[in-house]
Amino acid sequence: MSFDQCLSGSLAAVSVTSEPRSPSRAVSADVTAQVEYRIVRNGLVREVERGRVQKVDVCDAHPELLRAARNVGRPTKEVCPICDDGRLVTVTFVFGAKLPSGGRCPGTAAELKALCRRPEPVLCYEVEVCPCCAWHHLMRKYPAGGVKPRQKDQKKATPRR
Ligand SMILES: [Zn+2]
Repeated sequence: MSFDQCLSGSLAAVSVTSEPRSPSRAVSADVTAQVEYRIVRNGLVREVERGRVQKVDVCDAHPELLRAARNVGRPTKEVCPICDDGRLVTVTFVFGAKLPSGGRCPGTAAELKALCRRPEPVLCYEVEVCPCCAWHHLMRKYPAGGVKPRQKDQKKATPRR
């Protein structure tokens, strides 16, 4: 069981890699900006409220995603817009070189911070999940990592004579 399976629903609209032929390059160079999906998400919520989209079609979080939400999800103050009962939690998945193809799901804020400071560029996906009704939606995508050694350190490494 991998996280790409449980994310398939959330990430269906935005494929993780636009280059299926080179799966190792999950993070492409042109991905430099943060992308918000709240507008898309709010639109979908409205469609459910209007009855145009069935709840069963949007409340289908994969068991692995639900487990991640319960175990490592960061609680929010927002109440689920679908069931009006559960508190939404945020689960972050990190994709990048030297990480599992299905992404890494950091269990703590410290682990997420460490992943975002990697020398290799990574792509973070924030997914909103309701553990009560299994509603889930991608909320935010942002690049991180790619931290290069500081100029100072480089100068130190090659002292002038
Ligand atoms: Zn819910």
